[in-house]
Amino acid sequence: MKTIKPGEERIYKNKNGDLVRSVMVCCTEVLTQFKDSMNIDQETQLTKMIEATVKEYKEIKEKEGPITAAYSMHAAIDKEIKKSGNEHQGFSVTCKKGCDWCCQIHVDITPDEAELILAHCEEKNIFIGWDRLERQSKFSEKTWLSDQISHETWCGFLNPITGCCIYKHRPGACRNHRSLDDPEKCNVIMTNGKIRKYGVLIAEMLQSAAMTAYGADSMAKMLIKTKKLNDKENQKA
Ligand code: SF4
Repeated sequence: MKTIKPGEERIYKNKNGDLVRSVMVCCTEVLTQFKDSMNIDQETQLTKMIEATVKEYKEIKEKEGPITAAYSMHAAIDKEIKKSGNEHQGFSVTCKKGCDWCCQIHVDITPDEAELILAHCEEKNIFIGWDRLERQSKFSEKTWLSDQISHETWCGFLNPITGCCIYKHRPGACRNHRSLDDPEKCNVIMTNGKIRKYGVLIAEMLQSAAMTAYGADSMAKMLIKTKKLNDKENQKA
């Protein structure tokens, strides 16, 4: 993911060499790839869509709180993924229950997604491995696979037998990570993530808008930070 300060204005040269003024938005890695192949009109339209979605997202959060905001963003992402079907450029999506190779990848989440996950874990009494999260929080997207001991890269919410234990409320990034390749290749330790994968454009736009509105960080860092803030608030109350 490109790290930028959301909401800031920037002036840059487009592919034709024209100077363009634009509001900075957060873009997921996949959306950045989409943007790279867009012309200026398409990019401007995309930025406008993100800005409109940010406004809408903030309104939901202000009215109904962070958990509902994250929940509704996930519902909208799922709807877009469903609409797009299971085929892309002649390839079929190969993701299926029980295949969880992608759960070794670095995942960014928003503060609202962290609130949703924490509330769900509390309600369902789901164990959170805080020690592992502390260790994982020391690694960035760049160093995640290269510097961590391989078994430490696995998401702490993955149960090897039953799968993702927060599946209903898993992050948007997990929802829109779709492989078009041999599932074995999703073992990022073997392939370093070089697989044929596919993210639905509008779903990436929705995720990017939520990130633009309130920022994002690695799942480990964001969960730790959100828990600390919540504990502090609870002590005050
Ligand atoms: S939250 Fe669930 S789907 Fe996402 S990486 Fe963790 S185990 Fe996998």
